[in-house]
Amino acid sequence: MSFNVTEIREDFPILNQKIYNRPLVYFDNAATTQRPQQVIDALTKTYTEYYGNIHRAAHFLADKATAAYEETREKARALINAETREQIIFTKGTTESINLAAFSFGEAFIQEGDEIIVSEMEHHSNIVPWQLMAGRKGARIVMLPVDDDGRLQIEKLESLITSRTKLITVAHVSNVLGTINPIKQIAQIAHSRGVRIFVDGAQAVPHLKIDVQELDVDFYAFSAHKMYGPNGVGVLYGKRELLEQMPPYQGGGEMISEVKFSGTTYNELPYKFEAGTPNISGVIAFGAAIDYLQALGIAAVSSWETELLNYATAQLIQIPGLRIYGTQAEKSGVISFNVEGVHFFDLGTMLDKLGIAVRTGHHCADPLMDHFEIQGTVRASFAFYNTKEEIDVFVEALKKVISMF
Ligand code: PLP
Repeated sequence: MSFNVTEIREDFPILNQKIYNRPLVYFDNAATTQRPQQVIDALTKTYTEYYGNIHRAAHFLADKATAAYEETREKARALINAETREQIIFTKGTTESINLAAFSFGEAFIQEGDEIIVSEMEHHSNIVPWQLMAGRKGARIVMLPVDDDGRLQIEKLESLITSRTKLITVAHVSNVLGTINPIKQIAQIAHSRGVRIFVDGAQAVPHLKIDVQELDVDFYAFSAHKMYGPNGVGVLYGKRELLEQMPPYQGGGEMISEVKFSGTTYNELPYKFEAGTPNISGVIAFGAAIDYLQALGIAAVSSWETELLNYATAQLIQIPGLRIYGTQAEKSGVISFNVEGVHFFDLGTMLDKLGIAVRTGHHCADPLMDHFEIQGTVRASFAFYNTKEEIDVFVEALKKVISMF
């Protein structure tokens, strides 16, 4: 083990409690993670010491808040190795990042009859915004399928690309299967055919080292709340030449250069896409979350989470009637499964009564559920603060619950 989980857990006050009189085992990290005291303190400090509306005022509090807000932009830039800070657009989460990109990319680059390739393993938030845009523009959505191991069928990509294909959109890591998609390879295929690539990195940034330049992606989106930061904050990264050509997503304060009734001109990047007062304290505290992750080291985080994944998988596959969805070697710490004869919802509810938080249902991935011909799964997802002891508790609890059916 490359870092001290016992020590790390002391930073997370919420983990140290009993649920139904049992020590909490929090395995719902793919839905949202918990925050360390450092992030909670950063939020409190903003409100108690230097809260003011950013960018627009000439007073001390606003200046300090602006500096702290912009500091997070630089931290987010460094985290994913974006070329410049202007390419980091703050949103309220991955969902808003995707809606922004789908709307503005659509306005700038999509014509009637064009095609967007969307992978079958996407979260609804990386399907519906593209469908909405396609509906508006008269474009078509084309699906890139997965196979039964939960692997994206990259070999089919070439043949799906036509002269009308404008963009492919894909998750870096599946929130259901844990599959880590070969983004660099997909980007190479797309670019070789003049197609842009959008990557939903919601489940990747908290767990993997991301370098958008090395991956050579056109867009990359992620959420702070899935990486130990506040909820209501997200990032959209985009290549500058694309962002420059894309029109604003929302109108309002901050995104303008000059407003006249005869016509309005827009602010430069990134402000063109940041209309209105943003989540100031949230963005500032997000900076503390990035600091926290960077101090742990993403490589160390990844390797501990892989150890947890392997440890849990080895035990779960011994349970008769248990099927895991997503069995790729390149996988992050997410295990979705069903047990023959037991409804996933019953499993989740009874695990909860034993103090164990997992997620049940379709995980906002209906097309993937249809692929496997299921209604849903139980999903256990790990973070760096989880332990092997918690996995033992989970597996024992699961066996106990199964034996009751
Ligand atoms: N994409 C993936 C892969 C996700 O797992 C999620 C959330 O679960 C989202 C997008 C949406 O993220 P948010 O709700 O933070 O906007």
